[in-house]
Amino acid sequence: MTAQQLDSTGRLRHLLTLEGMPRPVLEGLLDQAQACHDSAIGRTTDRREVLAGTAVCTLFFEPSTRTRSSFTLAAQRLGADVMSFDASTSSAKKGETDTDTLRNLEAMGVRGFVIRHPDDGAVARLAATVKPETCLLNAGDGRSGHPTQGLLDMLTIRQAKGTDFSALKVMIVGDVKHSRVARTDLHALRTLGAGEIRVCGPANLLPDDDTLAGCTVGDDLDAMIEGVDVLMMLRLQHERMSEGLVPSLEAYHARWGLNAERLRRAAPDAIVMHPGPINRGVEVTDEVADGPQSWILRQVANGVAVRMAALQAVLG
Ligand code: ASP
Repeated sequence: MTAQQLDSTGRLRHLLTLEGMPRPVLEGLLDQAQACHDSAIGRTTDRREVLAGTAVCTLFFEPSTRTRSSFTLAAQRLGADVMSFDASTSSAKKGETDTDTLRNLEAMGVRGFVIRHPDDGAVARLAATVKPETCLLNAGDGRSGHPTQGLLDMLTIRQAKGTDFSALKVMIVGDVKHSRVARTDLHALRTLGAGEIRVCGPANLLPDDDTLAGCTVGDDLDAMIEGVDVLMMLRLQHERMSEGLVPSLEAYHARWGLNAERLRRAAPDAIVMHPGPINRGVEVTDEVADGPQSWILRQVANGVAVRMAALQAVLG
């Protein structure tokens, strides 16, 4: 997948994964996203011509709020023609395959596809079938990857803590096993040289493969949160659990939920992140989600900037 997303000159051809993405490419995307920030939040309109005349389609086979709307806005702010495809109201319902769907839209002249899919590796599989001028951006595939979420998370950490991650203690909390966000963030944090990565959650929600290699892993949030600079809270991914892995939401919250009292054990200037959608009162309390240390809505704003940078990188 790593080889598939770069062309022979090392330029980004598709955005499929952050796993194995060379550090200069990853940092280049973050720098570009920072440069897009004012345009992303609508303060300037200086990038309107960048993708003028280029058609971009958001092709979602799974629900989305933030990713889809911010990709749409990002493409519009770059001047692209944007169309949106929703599997629940299309011929996918009549049994058309995802490959045929993509080929038909490609035949209409769409050059950029932003794809969300329930299957691991689906976007890379589709990338192997497209025309040389067509570019795919992974907007989340199964439990595997969500590269623009990883990028927006790294941009948020940079804004809060600076570009040198070597002294940072970052902690990921919750349902890592089913989370493409956690997997993606772990790749990016390692590439950017995060000082210490702690991962905390119930043992049955932590992966037992090499996903957590090099991390400090445990289930005692009260002990592990001491001195942490960045807290990344994850949603319980009920839709990807084959059985009830959590006895009750109350019991989960009591041990792994973030409340104001627990947050006081982290570094005084620690930031709290969550990819959304939040289960309020489960992963985080209202007081924390809406409190002064929450960077959750800044993550959302950064999502537009990062998606502008990603679209420009592959299509520009
Ligand atoms: N929105 C993120 C995703 O699509 C996180 C989540 O759903 O929990 O992976």
